[in-house]
Order: sequence, then C-alpha cells, then structure tokens
Amino acid sequence: MDKILRINMGGANGPELKTEGLGPYAGLGGRGMTSAVVSKEVPPSCHPLGADNKFVIAPGLLSGSVAAMSGRISVGCKSPLTGGIKEANSGGQPSQMLGRLGYAAIILEGKPADDTLYKVLINKDGATISADSSLKGLGNYDTVDKMKAEYGDKISCISIGQAGEMKMAAASVACTDMELRPTRHCGRGGVGAVMGAKGVKVIVVDDAGMSMRPAADPDKFKAANKAFVAGLKKHPVTGEGLPAYGTNVLTNVINEAGGYPTNNFATGQFEGAAKISGETQAELENARGGKGAATHGCHRGCVIRCSGTFYDKDGNYLTKQPEYETVWSHGGNCGIDDLDAIAQIDRLDDDFGLDTIEMGATIGVAMEAGLAKFGDAEAAIKLVKEVGQGTPLGRILGNGAAVTGKVFGVERVPVVKGQAMPAYDPRTVQGIGVTYATSTMGADHTAGYAVATNILGVGGNVDPLKPEGQVELSRNLQVATAAIDATGMCVFIAFAILDQEDTFQALLDIVGGFLGQPMTADDVTALGQSILKNEREFNARAGFTAADDRLPDYFKEEKLSPHNITFGVSDEALDDVYNF
Ligand code: SF4
Repeated sequence: MDKILRINMGGANGPELKTEGLGPYAGLGGRGMTSAVVSKEVPPSCHPLGADNKFVIAPGLLSGSVAAMSGRISVGCKSPLTGGIKEANSGGQPSQMLGRLGYAAIILEGKPADDTLYKVLINKDGATISADSSLKGLGNYDTVDKMKAEYGDKISCISIGQAGEMKMAAASVACTDMELRPTRHCGRGGVGAVMGAKGVKVIVVDDAGMSMRPAADPDKFKAANKAFVAGLKKHPVTGEGLPAYGTNVLTNVINEAGGYPTNNFATGQFEGAAKISGETQAELENARGGKGAATHGCHRGCVIRCSGTFYDKDGNYLTKQPEYETVWSHGGNCGIDDLDAIAQIDRLDDDFGLDTIEMGATIGVAMEAGLAKFGDAEAAIKLVKEVGQGTPLGRILGNGAAVTGKVFGVERVPVVKGQAMPAYDPRTVQGIGVTYATSTMGADHTAGYAVATNILGVGGNVDPLKPEGQVELSRNLQVATAAIDATGMCVFIAFAILDQEDTFQALLDIVGGFLGQPMTADDVTALGQSILKNEREFNARAGFTAADDRLPDYFKEEKLSPHNITFGVSDEALDDVYNF
C-alpha cells in the first residue's frame, strides 16, 4: 500500500481527486493511519460537519494479504457525537480490496458547494467520482443493489444510509460483507454524518485484476500464519464459543454475572435473557435457515467466523445474525425479549445506517422519559422508523442518547464523552468501567475489553466487583487494542493471544514476516502507546480535561442489583490510566 487518495469535495469546479505518496504516513495502517491524519491535519476546534474536518478510511497494515483475520477497515474523523477524535472499524470486504489496490488511505476533505450526492469508484485503473442524484434518500440495501446492477457483483461498497445523509450523530458507515450486503458497520461516533457532510453516498471498490499483497519474508509469514490459525482454533472462545453461537454467546454469561444492563441500566439482570440468548438464537436460526444458519466470516480470511444469518418466520433472509451488543441494546436494555423484533430493528439500523449501540441506548433513555414503555417492541420499532424518516422526533433520537436525554429531561443517561455505553454495566464489570471512562473514543467496550479478564478469565483473573487491578488491566488492554486496530486484525483475536503465548508470538511473526523486520512485544506496546498519545493530545487540544474521563455520577451513587454495588474506581486512579 504505497499511495493515498485525496478527494477535495470543495474544489472550485467540483470534487478534485489527487493520488499521492505516503509521505509522513509511511508504515501506518488502520487506526494508526486514521488517528495520525486526523491529529495532524484536522483543527481540533473545527465543526465536525464543516470543511476543516476530514473523513479518513484506512485498511489495516496487513489487509490485502493472506494473513488470517486481517480484513478490518478503520474510518476516522473528528466525531460529531463526542467532539473528540474518532476511529471506528468494521469487517466486510472493502479493507482487503483497498489493500490489494494499493491504497493506504482515502481522505475526503473540504465541503461541497451544494447538496449534490456523489459516488466514487476505485479500481485497478484508478479512482473516479461522479454525481448521482438517484441515490438520494436510499437506504444502504437499495444503494448497494444499485451499485451491484451498475458494476457487477464482485465489488464491495462503503456507504451511508438516510441517517448519514441527514448528518445524524448516531449515523454509521456500512461496509458490505461476503454476500455483498451492507451488514458490517463502522458504527460508533457518528462517522456516517461526516461522510454525509462530504456529500459522498457510496465508495465502490473493485479489485479485479489485482493480486494478494506479498510478504517480505514469505516463509516466516506463512509458517506464522499457520501457527496463528491453529492457536485461534484451539482456544475455547475463538475456536468454540464464537463460531457456535456468535457474539450473542455472551447474553447468558453476562446476565448470570449480574452485569447485563437492563431497562436503561436500572438492574443487572434481565428476566427475559434466556429468550434472546445466543443459544436460543442459534436454535431459531437452525430451524428457519437450515444449513444457512451456520456461522461464517464477515470477510475472506476470517477463521473465527462469528457472523451468521437471521431468517424471518417464513424462512427469508432478514438481516445478519444480530450481534450481542445489538441484541442487548434493543433487547434487555429496552426490556424487550423478542428476537424477531430485535432482528427487525437490526435490519432497520443497518439500512438507515445507524449505530445499534447508540440507538438502543437512545430508545432506553426515551423509554425512561415516558415516550414508550419498557418491553414495548412495536413502539421501539416505530421510534427507529421515525429516525429513518427524519421526523422531528426522529431527528432528536438520531442524534443519540445524550441529546435525547437533554431534550426530554432525563438524568440517567449512560454516556461518556457523549457516547452511549455498550452492554456491560460498569458497576459489575469495573474494568470495563475504567475503559468507558478513559478511552479516547467515549464509552467503548472494544477500546480495552476488560470483560475478558473480569468475567471470562482470559489473560488472568481480576475480580470484576472490586476496583483493585482495574486501571492496570484497562491500560494494558487499551494499548494492545490500539496496536491491533492498526494491523487490520479483528479484535476477537485478543482472547487467544492473551491466553496463549505461542499464539501471541505467531502474531508478532506474521507482522514481522510481512514487513521483513522483527516485531517484538515492546514494539506492539510502543505502537499502541503512540496511537493513544496522538488521540489524547487531539482531545486535549479540542478542550477535553480529566473531568471528561468520568462515568456519570449515578454509577457512583446508585447501587446495581443483584450485587448492590456502585462503581468504585476513584478519580485519582482513573487519572493514572494514561501514565505513559
Ligand atoms: S471474528 Fe467475527 S467480527 Fe471478527 S472478522 Fe470474523 S466474522 Fe468478522
């Protein structure tokens, strides 16, 4: 990957495309690339939807190679939801294809003169951009279908739905999966709104005629990749739990631990959990979908294969298998125990282009405000439809939980830096509370998944109910995750590399073999720390202080059943997370 495509959407005569060398960004990938570009080129005080913000897309360092699990793509910008730096990543096919086409980054910059909507085509002959008003107001599914009719079914797409066009702060960016469906999303932080503000509806990627990216040391790379795959297959989480049930395997586990946020984080256990668990979901999918119900990868080269397909009552495709976070956000968090209703909302979220975590948390806040009753699935579906239609209420909800809480006078709003908390209550899983509070991204479980050690016993044991050891745990995980996010590897590899030294070594050897230079654990730490420092520094310049690295007060004051416990990590301890 030796080039960057820049598209200035504010050119005097319309969009201007320029392909350039990597310059100061040589050697960077994924989150390392997006955060470096945003940190260096975006004024931290700019309006997220204005001309000065940039929308950066970057495949991981290993994307486009045969390295297993290396197909994650990062998008970055200043977030309209948090006001800080944002990196959101996704699976799907575009990362591998962009890597093979040689692009280390695509940067959309400037501001279009009017509301013309554009599509971008990137293939072996280069990149073109053209206006296409027929795409206006389309959902992601119709957008992708149109692109398929135009460019064939070997493409992949990066697109926004209506939410992105309306520049909502909960808008996601969709990436197509192996079946060319827009089911994988860079979900968090309103990245879809920034793509919408640049006037780009869809980026079509076609890697026909391109080859796999070769490794500098093919023998070392090949042997390491083999050992890495074997390590993933032998670990109980990556080799058994995730492939069998998908991420929703966590519903029963987290509920039993008393950390399953229920009815807008009011309690830690949901009585309807068994009805929406991964085990129940798998049974339902098997009954309805036959052999299609088996899990599969969201991109070529995934060997964990945690993704699946959800069929409606008539056996027709409805959506991908809803993830644990989605089943929770639109399920237990809203008191809803109906998998069909949750799957319908998942389809709506994917089509409108919405972050399922933010939307579920928002509906929970709306329920607390009295807009609907907890457990009322039909009302929840109606509220999400209002978002896609852009009604006045929908515009409020589509801007996330914090805005909705403010508009309707709700005090209990589970956000940090304006971003909604995911599916683990920080009172029962205190390590994830540290990550929520201090991540550069706002509340984000993937930024440092302390649940692994707190609840699953992966990478050691730290008591989830006590504050001791949580800061160090979260710090180490945040550093490691930032590095993983730079490689293009799916974060789920963390289970195996935390537990199995030989699998971690295999990962180091994959990167080392690919780049042709040895990679050590210290190098990983240095890479992760440098990314986090870039991001922290951007946020500081944007006005963030230690006061922003806190959970809402009620997590320290309101006891959560069944453990009757509050979040116990002190402010001083939180301030020690970034001690490097
Ligand atoms: S493990 Fe799941 S999320 Fe990760 S790449 Fe595979 S299918 Fe995608």
